[in-house]
Amino acid sequence: SNTNQSLINRKNDAVARGVGLLHPVFVESAENATVTDVEGRQFIDFAGGIAVLNTGHLHPKVKAAVAAQLEKLSHTCFMVMGYEPYVAVCEKINALAPGKEPKKTALFTSGAEAVENAIKVARAATGRTGIIAFGASYHGRTLATLALTGKVAPYSTGMGLMSGDVYRALYPCELHGVSTEAALASIQRIFKFDAEPSNIAAIILEPVQGEGGFYVAPPAFMKALRELCDQHGILLIADEVQTGAGRTGTFFAMEQMGVSADITTFAKSIAGGFPLSGIVGKAECMDKIAPGGLGGTYGGSPIACAAALAVLEVFEEERLLDRSKALGQTITENLKALAKDFPAIRDVRGLGAMVAMEVFKADGTPDSELPGKILTKAREKGLILLSCGLYGNVIRILVPLTVPDEQLQQGLQIIRECFQELS
Ligand code: PMP
Repeated sequence: SNTNQSLINRKNDAVARGVGLLHPVFVESAENATVTDVEGRQFIDFAGGIAVLNTGHLHPKVKAAVAAQLEKLSHTCFMVMGYEPYVAVCEKINALAPGKEPKKTALFTSGAEAVENAIKVARAATGRTGIIAFGASYHGRTLATLALTGKVAPYSTGMGLMSGDVYRALYPCELHGVSTEAALASIQRIFKFDAEPSNIAAIILEPVQGEGGFYVAPPAFMKALRELCDQHGILLIADEVQTGAGRTGTFFAMEQMGVSADITTFAKSIAGGFPLSGIVGKAECMDKIAPGGLGGTYGGSPIACAAALAVLEVFEEERLLDRSKALGQTITENLKALAKDFPAIRDVRGLGAMVAMEVFKADGTPDSELPGKILTKAREKGLILLSCGLYGNVIRILVPLTVPDEQLQQGLQIIRECFQELS
């Protein structure tokens, strides 16, 4: 029978090296916040498939909805013949998206694809090509999104320069010496040195940077960005692929920022483990692209849409937005207590249940070694964690919002033990 090692060996022989594997674990099955590997070992899952499992692994309602859909229809390609679940998802997302203006939605398969299409809409709606993106941002690994992603290694290492009229601004991050004013000044510098505002189609950002380190954009910064965009006819794109679907305590993180975006991307947890992404935006922008200009063979598949509709029901029935806020509070309090005991943890932050801690060496520089050691030790103790951050010195928590309290506490206790044993 399979062992983790035998499968790792087969992976190394068969799978391109560029597809990394963070944890040397092959999973056989999973339920809610528990995964079981091929050797029968159970782990608590604080990674959630990178923010995909806000409703947990195989939520019974999602499973039932997918099973029911499988009895009826798996594919037509929505551009060929329609089916109701696609329209129903768009209606629900239009109602959920922040901002008063009428909205329209288009569905795709991956987060990167959603970002690509957001850029296409922005170009069509403005007749401009320039895009401003931020340092340490993550928008995907496809070629156009790679140009937006603000971290070279490992994402574009060895691939040459990325193309596509992208200008890089600074994301506000007081911890690393970038104030809101400095971040705004970096945009003014682009206007002075690189490109007229009238050539910029959109400013794209994550309201909370995900891969970049769970840095929360100050609402004052968002407000200033909104004003800047309005002043120059630039569209504001919120990439909510990681922050969306309730992770931050509201369905979209932008609901907490006091201003709304023109176009919003979503993916990951929207369909509880099935591949679905999309963009929602002001109808007048979205409709600038003519029929045939948006789509894809699998975008908004009936199966994924059925899953998404079930996820949205589960959010209501189980009051998961409240749960997201409460979880966030519990996790934050817990990590702050940990930070008191372990000075390496110099910052604990987040929005709702999107929480991270950042570790530094005694000399004050980012400690990019410690997270790896913590991740390994935590795994040995039965907890799956993720790191992130421009300097790789951030440990982040993306536990399912449906995690039982006892299991959450177990996971947090394991994190404490790891710090105890490693210091
Ligand atoms: N945008 C953000 C903010 C993300 O976090 C991610 C994935 N980590 C993506 C885009 C890309 O999504 P996908 O991997 O589904 O293409």
